[in-house]
Amino acid sequence: MTSDALTPYSIERQDALTPSPSPKGRGGQDHRIEFCDRIAVIATMHRKETAIAPILQESLGIRSVTPTDFNSDLFGTFTRDIDRPASQVETAKLKAERGLDFVNTDLAIASEGSFFPHPIFGIPYNREIVLLLDKKYDFSVYGESLSTNTNFRHQVVSSYEQAYEFALKVGFPDHAIVLMPNAHTSAKKAIHKGINSEDLLKESVNELLKRSPQIHIETDMRSHYNPTRIKNIAKATEDLVRRLQQLCPNCNFVNFDVVERLKGLRCELCGFPTQVTRAHVYRCDRCNFKQESLFPDGVQSADPMYCSYCNP
Ligand SMILES: [Zn+2]
Ligand SMILES: [Zn+2]
Repeated sequence: MTSDALTPYSIERQDALTPSPSPKGRGGQDHRIEFCDRIAVIATMHRKETAIAPILQESLGIRSVTPTDFNSDLFGTFTRDIDRPASQVETAKLKAERGLDFVNTDLAIASEGSFFPHPIFGIPYNREIVLLLDKKYDFSVYGESLSTNTNFRHQVVSSYEQAYEFALKVGFPDHAIVLMPNAHTSAKKAIHKGINSEDLLKESVNELLKRSPQIHIETDMRSHYNPTRIKNIAKATEDLVRRLQQLCPNCNFVNFDVVERLKGLRCELCGFPTQVTRAHVYRCDRCNFKQESLFPDGVQSADPMYCSYCNP
């Protein structure tokens, strides 16, 4: 995961420590990407464009269109009736490619979300990706948002009261609910999606309970039924914009970002190199220009508690 922003602080440090050669100075090419007034197709059918389009328009001048007949469900659904064909980033890329079949342009945006337990705290975690595919300049870049702010939950219930109690805890009716006979259900007909009213909830719960004493209830994670997810998609879009605005000092290409973190910050007390990060390495995908940014955390020596000599 590359998430550290190139802060004003580190830009200053870079300038002070590593002189940035100009494209002319190195005899290189200028790979600046123009976005202003280009048309992007947003390959979505779940109104994600409400989160994505305004940010792209304001920050980059990209004008977006959303095809009315794009079926993103072919690329997998959260309600498990269709499996996702590839990894999250690859799936987003496939969606973006597909979007270009609907609109005659060379720029496409797609988004893809996943939910899994937080690696340390175990609580539900949401990873959103917003990917830009540029056929004119031949590259793709994605932004991401990792957040514990999600209502992703599921439970087994055996009465309407239990189902309603679950629903209230996850932000119902602004956030919709999904009901099914059990967690392994994959038959499309048996899955009740987009339940966002008490009447609908009562009707679905009673219908399913007729056939089984216990049923499975979960949050509907599709973006148009989940305002919390829409917020995380907006954050991923902002991260995408950040990467698109972070330009290579040598050739002006986008996404000049951290590719490596170097350890070895020296101990404040004895000067011995520690495991603490000493520098970030940035690299350009287009011209391979590399730049080290020293002391990215804003300190020039490590606390002795991290020193294997002072604190073995
Ligand atoms: Zn470059
Ligand atoms: Zn030490």
